[in-house]
Amino acid sequence: MRLILLGPPGAGKGTQAERLVAKHGIVQLSTGDMLRAAVAEGTPVGLEAKDVMARGELCPDSLVVSIVADRIEQPDAHNGFILDGFPRTLAQAEALDKMLHEHKLDLDAVVELVVDQEALLERVERRARENAAAGKPVRPDDAPETVKRRIADFNRVTSLLRPFYEEKGIHSSVDGMASIDEVARQIDAALAKTETAAA
Ligand code: AMP
Repeated sequence: MRLILLGPPGAGKGTQAERLVAKHGIVQLSTGDMLRAAVAEGTPVGLEAKDVMARGELCPDSLVVSIVADRIEQPDAHNGFILDGFPRTLAQAEALDKMLHEHKLDLDAVVELVVDQEALLERVERRARENAAAGKPVRPDDAPETVKRRIADFNRVTSLLRPFYEEKGIHSSVDGMASIDEVARQIDAALAKTETAAA
């Protein structure tokens, strides 16, 4: 199974991706995680991404497309994957189509977590507080002004992916404001629907 979880920062993509990984035996490919690892390791990709990420801006398409292209070729991705945080622009979505096509692969589903944006900022601030209390690192881009910029980018750029995938007939929306279990149930229902359609 190959799917995309779509939604603004704080929508709960990471939480749901973790559950889907366990359930379907597939890997979670989070470009945010990959970029943060590259920054921590000080690789050339990390050096290029560091300041852009700290400002909450989008990294160049070519950079993220190349890390995803490398990652999906790894053996652990052969069974399927969940893309979390990628694609974020139409150019990335088109590049993804092209790379999947080259590998004779298809996307099964694009599930969008639709959230009340007023509540998002509060959610991301809570995540930062909880991480700090648990002694976990707090992301520099979870500062309120930066989160606002990331949400604005989602509305301006990433929301264009909805019509792109609707046209392909693989987009579904779930209520990202519901409880974690209810969101999980809605995602499972959306995936079951795509499986039935494909059968
Ligand atoms: P995330 O953890 O998905 O919120 O990503 C954290 C940051 O990494 C973003 O604010 C961007 O700076 C960068 N990033 C992650 N994924 C992408 C992407 N697909 N395109 C551009 N920048 C990205």
